[in-house]
Amino acid sequence: MAKRCAPTPTRPDYTTSPGRSRNMAAIRRVDTKPEVALRSQLHRLGFRFRKDFPIRIEGRLIRPDIVFTRRKIAIFVDGCFWHCCPVHGQAPKVNGEYWYPKLERNVIRDREQTGALESAGWTVLRFWSHDPADLVADAVNQVLSV
Ligand SMILES: [Zn+2]
Repeated sequence: MAKRCAPTPTRPDYTTSPGRSRNMAAIRRVDTKPEVALRSQLHRLGFRFRKDFPIRIEGRLIRPDIVFTRRKIAIFVDGCFWHCCPVHGQAPKVNGEYWYPKLERNVIRDREQTGALESAGWTVLRFWSHDPADLVADAVNQVLSV
């Protein structure tokens, strides 16, 4: 009994962008760490940022993958499995009763962290690990250029 997780509304959707299959194939082949790919894209664009920078809000410790401290921009690259991506996220059929609540808790925590950051004045950008790094970097670039 596999249940699909509820999609979260806070991420831009790149799944329909042209060149997706090519990009996804490339990502799968060369890079298993999408946040590493994104960081190097952002470095290439000349951005300086902190990685895994701990942000403390109301006793809660949040570690976004990429943080622009001065601009108060927090970026997460969420793994498809652990964060229930609507395309690839699915609780495993085996031990589903173990996995489903576990993954559901991750989704709830993501939502809470986003909410806590936003109410503390942060801009939160969440992406899926399947999103092509170059498109994600473009989106981040646009936000930073405002
Ligand atoms: Zn995915």
